[in-house]
Amino acid sequence: MIDVLVIGGGNAALCAALMAREAGASVMVLESAPREWRGGNSQHTRNLRCMHDAPQDVLLEAYPEEEFWQDLLKVTGGITNEHLARVAIRHSATCRDWMRKHGVNFQPPLSGTLHLARTNAFFMGGGKALINAYYRSAEALGVQIRYDSPVDALELDGDRFVAARIGDTRIEARTCVLACGGFESNLAWLREAWGQNERGEWPADNFLIRGTRYNMGVLLRYMIDAGADIIGDPSQSHCVAIDARAPMYDGGICTRIDCVSLGVVVNRDAQRFYDEGEDFWPKRYAIWGRLTAMQPGQIAYSIIDAKAVGRFMPPVFPGTRADTLEDLARAVGLDVDAFVDTIHQYNAACRIGTFDHTVLDDCHTEGVTPAKTHWARPIDTAPFYAYPVRPGITFTYLGLQVDEDATVHFGGKPSPNLFAAGEMMAGNVLGKGYTAGVGMTIGTAFGRIAGTSAAAAALNKNEGARREAA
Ligand SMILES: Cc1cc2nc3c(=O)[nH]c(=O)nc-3n(C[C@H](O)[C@H](O)[C@H](O)COP(=O)(O)OP(=O)(O)OC[C@H]3O[C@@H](n4cnc5c(N)ncnc54)[C@H](O)[C@@H]3O)c2cc1C
Repeated sequence: MIDVLVIGGGNAALCAALMAREAGASVMVLESAPREWRGGNSQHTRNLRCMHDAPQDVLLEAYPEEEFWQDLLKVTGGITNEHLARVAIRHSATCRDWMRKHGVNFQPPLSGTLHLARTNAFFMGGGKALINAYYRSAEALGVQIRYDSPVDALELDGDRFVAARIGDTRIEARTCVLACGGFESNLAWLREAWGQNERGEWPADNFLIRGTRYNMGVLLRYMIDAGADIIGDPSQSHCVAIDARAPMYDGGICTRIDCVSLGVVVNRDAQRFYDEGEDFWPKRYAIWGRLTAMQPGQIAYSIIDAKAVGRFMPPVFPGTRADTLEDLARAVGLDVDAFVDTIHQYNAACRIGTFDHTVLDDCHTEGVTPAKTHWARPIDTAPFYAYPVRPGITFTYLGLQVDEDATVHFGGKPSPNLFAAGEMMAGNVLGKGYTAGVGMTIGTAFGRIAGTSAAAAALNKNEGARREAA
């Protein structure tokens, strides 16, 4: 019988598989996707957020535990488990040497990548290269990998894992790590979670999915029905404003619209609806998907002028360009008078100080609602550009409640042999909000912990040894 069965094929799963194998366990990975689409959302990533007390290889200055924690506290509005969050944060200080050992290379961030040079380590070749490196290493270590293997049910004996089922195939194992993502690819479940709004719309009908189509939440649903302890609100997710022209799945990073803080954003009625300069973009970009989801028709337009060009990562689709505000409104189908009025009101409210996009500068508005609190400059220099945006779901936060050993709980009690990692339990740390790179921090930390715990449980090691190894 296999010692550790890992269900999922992304970062958290591979971290678990590699750690379990290194601990001496026999390991099998079941990945829903075919080989060419392996790696879930992890294949789309670029970096992970790391604490460090002094400059380290690709990371500048320091990013101490306390600052990381405060960042997390702020974006989640306190809906986070401090103990588990700190486990992940501390883990991020030391995981990169292990990642390198398995073939992951890091590179300094390119200029313009969202102020992340101090806090985030970028993968050379992105998440695709990271995933390929982990699969190579796993194969070399003798991890069995099965693609095209969507697990549709588990066999449990109370809180104990017995076997996984793929149709008629039954796979037994001593222990199991669930690392099969959230339910973000499941449009019907998203619709149910978001419900109908006061305008009679079903907001989720206008969502796009930024990553994989394989995270259908099948085992999350299974575990909920089986009585596992659940954490998180199904309507909470990492949800970014992405180009409305992006494909339904797998548009990836290049569909993100990063110029919000450099201009203004208006809804279908040509009205602004939120402070575009509230905070640094990495801490704030993930709120714009949700904000857009609240707007009529779930669509908005990010508007910039010539001064912003070259100051943000260029998106894959070109913006609609016009030489006058009136032409821009006409080109994207906004009411011309309402749009021009909104921009003129905003322009008149701008109090320009010293523009500096790398700090929370003193360019702000006065006397307009909503205010723009930083980087406020009039939109007055042609050509003007508009980018249509829609909510782009990255991953959902509803997940399984775990402890510091990544153990799944039933009725407050830990399962003897069932563990969870990555998006499946990220909701323990992320009740809402997001700070760039923390998804991979959580997945790497708890993936590694889950692998160690599962191997220890399978090989009958005691808990102390598990923790030491993790
Ligand atoms: C476009 C994009 C960019 C991102 N950029 C970053 C970034 O730079 N930094 C960062 O920290 N985070 C980023 N994220 C978030 C990040 O991808 C996730 O936090 C992280 O990858 C989650 O890892 P995971 O292993 O839990 O899930 P995934 O990588 O999604 O893996 C889940 C796996 O489970 C498999 N699976 C699902 N259901 C089943 C089943 N029933 N049976 C078998 N297998 C199943 C899937 O095929 C997949 O392989 C990004 C996400 C997207 C979409």
